[in-house]
Amino acid sequence: MEKLISVNKIKDIPSGYLNTPIGLLLEYHNLDKPYDTYDRAQILVGMCMDNRKHLHIPDNFAFIIRSGGANLRYSEFKVSYAIGVGKVQHIVLIGHNNCGMVNLMARKNEFIEGLVNSAGWEKEKAEEHFHHYAPMFEIGNEIDFILSEAKRLRLRYPAIPIAPLFYRIEDNKLYFINEP
Ligand SMILES: [Zn+2]
Repeated sequence: MEKLISVNKIKDIPSGYLNTPIGLLLEYHNLDKPYDTYDRAQILVGMCMDNRKHLHIPDNFAFIIRSGGANLRYSEFKVSYAIGVGKVQHIVLIGHNNCGMVNLMARKNEFIEGLVNSAGWEKEKAEEHFHHYAPMFEIGNEIDFILSEAKRLRLRYPAIPIAPLFYRIEDNKLYFINEP
């Protein structure tokens, strides 16, 4: 089964998401839909902090929480705030290929040396820091992680539609992730 669903025309958007803020996000970003005017956020976007990604969406359209790998496990209060106070009723999680939160162990030495050389940390502190946090932030695989994170958030916020999306850094387009 193809894991990514590309969106090159409106009909490619899964019908359940059409005419919702989730479908609109795809229309703005992928299909160059002219921007509408918003005076409040319509959607919460959870996406990676990676510098290679930029969303094409109108002002005021979205709350955006950026964190390594689009991992919202440690941002739950902000998610709840966006729903409770910000009144958004839709969430998308956007993973991307080539994510730095995959296989953190491979960058352990670079991480530690970087903190020592650039931030003035002692080597021992930097090692301890890495070993404490790396297991919390490691995502394993970009697509599987987004699917599991979407499942987790659906249990937590059962009335909120949550779509798992993928950003391909080669073409800067958003894709739906096919859910098994
Ligand atoms: Zn990333």
